[in-house]
Amino acid sequence: MLTPIKTPLVAKKMFPNYVWDIATNEKVLYLTFDDGPTPEITNWTLDTLNNYQAKATFFCIGKNIEKHPDIFKAILNEGHAIGNHTNNHLKGWKTLTSDYLANVTKAQNTIDAIIPKDFSGNTQLFRPPYGQIKPAQGKALLGQGYKIIMWDIISFDWDKNISKETCLKNVTNKATKGSIIVFHDSVKASKNMQYALPKVLEYFSEKGYVFKTLT
Ligand SMILES: [Zn+2]
Repeated sequence: MLTPIKTPLVAKKMFPNYVWDIATNEKVLYLTFDDGPTPEITNWTLDTLNNYQAKATFFCIGKNIEKHPDIFKAILNEGHAIGNHTNNHLKGWKTLTSDYLANVTKAQNTIDAIIPKDFSGNTQLFRPPYGQIKPAQGKALLGQGYKIIMWDIISFDWDKNISKETCLKNVTNKATKGSIIVFHDSVKASKNMQYALPKVLEYFSEKGYVFKTLT
């Protein structure tokens, strides 16, 4: 299946219980970073966001949080939001619902053990890896209080077949007020992401946009 850069309205309407974008007339964008925490890359991402007073949301993999709890804490300390991206980056369509839910819970237990008791953000944001989630899985997670965050724009930063310039244009040409934008703080995506992110921040900041966390 070919994933479009910008999620079509028809897809958003098919799954209205999932969050695809934030309705607003203000110049706000919601950057998201999946698959970390990753040594070097996540720290670089935090520094780059900081240069533009930009906030973002990091959808972390449970096993990566276990390996790098210090980086996970740094994300929180800098005022960003965090979300659950399963414990082992599971494909929902290929996973039994009971196994999928157990894997999300495992990641959540890791998150909850680290998050400070006085943390004021939402600790139950969830993004399905690959955007793949069966209706039964989605329904169960919504029932457990999770918000399921999809996206409006995918940068395709991980795709080795696109140039870094194309990755940048995927975002600058398509993002609009309230867009949720996907990047990855992973080694695989780093070549394109580390080129595109500062330019996205520069481009939209000059146009008066601010970058906020999802809540
Ligand atoms: Zn992912």
